[in-house]
Amino acid sequence: MKFSTKAIHAGQEPDPSSGAIMTPIFQTSTYVQTGIGEHKGYEYARTGNPTRTALESCLASLENGQHGLAFASGLAAEYAVLSLLNPGDHIVSCDDLYGGSYRLFERVIGRYHIDTDYVTVGDTSAYKKAMRPNTKMVWLETPTNPLLRLADIKAVAEIAHEQNALLVVDNTFATPYFQQPLALGADIVLHSTTKYINGHSDVIGGAVIMNDEDIYQQIKFHQNAAGAVPSPFDVWLTMRGIKTLAVRMRQHQENAWDIARYLTEHSRVQQVYYPGLASHPDHELARRQMSGFGGMVSFQFKGTMDDVDSVVRRFKVFSFAESLGGVESLVCHPATMTHGSIPKEIREARGVNDTLLRVSVGIEDVTDLIADLEQALA
Ligand SMILES: *Cc1c(COP(=O)(O)O)cnc(C)c1O
Repeated sequence: MKFSTKAIHAGQEPDPSSGAIMTPIFQTSTYVQTGIGEHKGYEYARTGNPTRTALESCLASLENGQHGLAFASGLAAEYAVLSLLNPGDHIVSCDDLYGGSYRLFERVIGRYHIDTDYVTVGDTSAYKKAMRPNTKMVWLETPTNPLLRLADIKAVAEIAHEQNALLVVDNTFATPYFQQPLALGADIVLHSTTKYINGHSDVIGGAVIMNDEDIYQQIKFHQNAAGAVPSPFDVWLTMRGIKTLAVRMRQHQENAWDIARYLTEHSRVQQVYYPGLASHPDHELARRQMSGFGGMVSFQFKGTMDDVDSVVRRFKVFSFAESLGGVESLVCHPATMTHGSIPKEIREARGVNDTLLRVSVGIEDVTDLIADLEQALA
C-alpha cells in the first residue's frame, strides 16, 4: 500500500465487537483474564493497550519499519532509545541539535558516564573522526533546527556501521512523508509526534520505529519498565491526526515554497533558509535524500533585535510561539526561545543570531499568510 492509504488504514481494523470504523479509545487500566496465564494479549495498560497498538503499527508502517513504540513525549522516546547504552559508552551527534536532546545528553545521561561529542551536522568526515572504540550510537537530526542544515544519512550510516554503532535519526522535521531514514541505513527512527505527526498542536507524544527484533524488545522492555507511556486518548488523537498527514505535508510544503520565494525577494530580508531553494547549501543533498523539503522556513531580518520584536508583535495570522508542525502558522525567535539556553557565542557561531526568525508554515490560505508577513515586515 502507498503512504496515504497506510496513514488511514494501517493498524486500524473496524472494531470486531461493534463494527465501529474508528479504533476505540480503550480507556482502561486493566483487562479481565479468563484463568491463570490465559488472556487476550493484554494484562495491564502500562504494558499494552489496543489503542496504542494501533498507533504503533501505523507508525511502523509509515516509516517502512517492522516495529513501532509510542511514548508520552518525544523526549521520553529518546530516553528509551538511550537505555540501550551502558556507562562508558560514547555517542557522536551533531551540533545543531534540538535543545531538549542536548540537555538530555549533557545533564541526564552524562551523569551515567555516557559522553557525547558534537560535530558539524553536514561534515561527513567529522563523524568518522569523532568515532571512538567505545562509540555505540550516532545520533542525527536532519534537517536541523532552525537553519535546516542536512546530514547525509546514508554516508553516516556507513561510518556508524563500520564500528557496529547504531544510527538513530530524529525524523521529526521531515516526517516519513518526505524522508525514510530506515531505507537509507538508519537503525532507529525517532519522532516527537507532538509536531507534524499529530499536527494539531493538542498532544505531547513521541515514537520510536525500528526493524531489529532485539532492539525492539529492549526498547519495549524500557517502555514498560520505566513507564513513560501515552494516554489512550492522546494516542487516539495522534492517530486521527495521522490520517491527514500526507495532505497536510503537501500543503505545508506548497505554502512554505511560496513564503520562501516571497521572503527571498523582500528588501528587509537578508537571507532565507529553505532546503528547496537552490541557494541553500544542502539543496543537492536534500533532493537526493528527501522526497520534499517540508514546511519550515527561517530567515534573517535586516535590522536590530528591537525591530524584530516589533515585527513579531504585529503578526495577526501567524502566532508568536515555540513548537512547530501544526496546521496553524507559527513564528519563533530561536535566539531567545528554542535556543535561549545555548551561550550567545556558541549560538552565533552556529548562525543563530538575534535577527533570525523561524516560521512553521501552516496550511491556512497562503495569500493571507503572505499579506500578514507583508504588513508585519513593513
Ligand atoms: C520537539 C522536538 C523533540 C522533543 O519532543 P517532545 O515531544 O517535546 O518531548 C525532539 N526532537 C525534535 C526535532 C523536536 O522538534
